[in-house]
Amino acid sequence: MAYTYDPQNIFAKILRGEIPNDTVLDTEYSLAFRDIQPQAPSHVLVIPKGPYVSYDHFAAEASDAEIVDFTRAISEVCKAEGLALPVGEGFRMIANAGAHGVQDVPHLHVHILGGRPMGRMVSQQA
Ligand code: AMP
Repeated sequence: MAYTYDPQNIFAKILRGEIPNDTVLDTEYSLAFRDIQPQAPSHVLVIPKGPYVSYDHFAAEASDAEIVDFTRAISEVCKAEGLALPVGEGFRMIANAGAHGVQDVPHLHVHILGGRPMGRMVSQQA
């Protein structure tokens, strides 16, 4: 079944310049900006500029150039935030998808979180 993308989601509006964002990095195919409700001292969202709902959608259908750009953008953000090893103390990357992944915004985004120990990976509670 084909993926369906809602062009009215809030990150699509950010990409169209309809609502503001606190940009960290802007590349040909990717945008990184600060999460509006940060869960850690460093909390940056990295999104592809193309209309992809989730990581699996992106990995299946994005061009090689988009995938390379997005992957490198994540690396650049981790470095710019001072989180990347060996200089920084590390980070957590999260990409939620769908209902069980508790994804609120249906445009692929990778959360980069760091600046403190991030705790255990997954809560036992729903
Ligand atoms: P998720 O639950 O993985 O879909 O995460 C969505 C994230 O988007 C949440 O951490 C929100 O705080 C964040 N968010 C929602 N609206 C905005 C916005 N306008 N600018 C930056 N971050 C946002």
